[in-house]
Amino acid sequence: MCGIIGATSSRSVGKILIKGLQSMEYRGYDSAGIALHQKEQIFRLRALGKVSNLEEMMVEHKPKAKTGIAHTRWATHGKPSEDNAHPHGSNDEIYIVHNGIIENHEPIRTRLKNEGYQIASQTDSELIAHLIHFYKQKSGKITQALIEATKELKGAYSIAVIDKDKKGKVFAARQKSPLLIGRGIEENFVASDPLAIANITEGFYLLEDGDFAEISKEKIRIFDETSKAVQRKETLIAATATATTRGGYKHFMEKEIYEQPESIGNTINGRLGENDVLDNIFGLGSSDAFKDIKRIQFVACGTSLHAAKTARKWFEDICETPCYIDFASEYRYRNPLVEENTLFVSISQSGETADTLAALEYAKSKDYLGAVSICNVPTSTMARDSDWKMFTNAGPEIGVASTKAFTTQLAALLMLAISIAKSQNINKEKRAEATQDLRNTPSLLQEAFGLKADIDQITENIAKKDKPST
Ligand code: GLU
Repeated sequence: MCGIIGATSSRSVGKILIKGLQSMEYRGYDSAGIALHQKEQIFRLRALGKVSNLEEMMVEHKPKAKTGIAHTRWATHGKPSEDNAHPHGSNDEIYIVHNGIIENHEPIRTRLKNEGYQIASQTDSELIAHLIHFYKQKSGKITQALIEATKELKGAYSIAVIDKDKKGKVFAARQKSPLLIGRGIEENFVASDPLAIANITEGFYLLEDGDFAEISKEKIRIFDETSKAVQRKETLIAATATATTRGGYKHFMEKEIYEQPESIGNTINGRLGENDVLDNIFGLGSSDAFKDIKRIQFVACGTSLHAAKTARKWFEDICETPCYIDFASEYRYRNPLVEENTLFVSISQSGETADTLAALEYAKSKDYLGAVSICNVPTSTMARDSDWKMFTNAGPEIGVASTKAFTTQLAALLMLAISIAKSQNINKEKRAEATQDLRNTPSLLQEAFGLKADIDQITENIAKKDKPST
């Protein structure tokens, strides 16, 4: 999942949107785009590659607008290309940006084609724009159309929408993918990541699953899934500013232990459906390629190696796949005999661990089905050099003894096991159970923190005990 930002203001929003995209670049993406409500039209620019390419186009065209939406894309449906980049439009009237995956895109595509819609991209996301247009034709109301359209979507989405007929407004909806509203001064925002708007907002409202929002520069209106107007608690997101400071904790490791519910939430966000993981969560074509996997070769070092060892039982149990696990530092000094349809999986927090990169390089000379990497840094060499990848979104880990980096790797590995089993159409019940377990993990961790007083007492008692005499 990459980045969404939307803005409505009394000043020009082009630069704000580009800056917002730049602050989400750390999440990794393949293309970027922007749609601006300029005069009575919507003006769109899209570029493959860096946000700076889009910025150059902005300098050339100098669009002026006080409302707009923008996006960085990480392709799940349709290759990275300008045509597949967001925003997607319908009839020059409705423009949308979308993070997530629409699972039932095939039947929706067929239906929309039968209704006479011209579909310009290979994405699941473009269909959302047409679906909203379709319902707007019926009711004449954009909010109603957004409600009707999202009712049909299965999967995960955060969406921001602008409508040619509603100048000065941005509409938004969220289901299983993060989205928040930012309150500014004479301007309001919507974004998938607080960092995108942290410097220009006074406070945030986190949308809940099923919520819709309508924002103008003066007003923020939020509705729940029954279309009832609701107030969501205003929060100050301190985490963005304090990611690399200790806050009130004694040391970083303690802080990072307490961050685990949030970090794991960030790892699973937008990747889980009701009873399964969503398709292609490891990137374009991954779900198809995983159909053929017969073996898995893990390589990693240190903590990441422990993550592979811990996760092995899930691969044996949920996707019935034998696993080999190697120290990355030793792997390239033997001659691994690679059986047909073996997947190569490398794990590293930074994605720059030298031995793991060398192992990945060596693996490329072997006949693997493909390489998956699990890491925390989307811009890393390991992510770049792999066919498919999942970013753990754990945030920076300063403590030397790993906590949240490890547990988020486990969450990613469990999603890999479920994803392979889903592609191979096996163990439906185990997949559903594991998906529920993942969903419940953040709140179970929170519950475990409630044991702190007891644990403190127990450790004190143990510390007081005499050492056994030898
Ligand atoms: N599934 C959409 C696409 O492939 C959205 C990807 C994203 O979240 O960036 O365009």
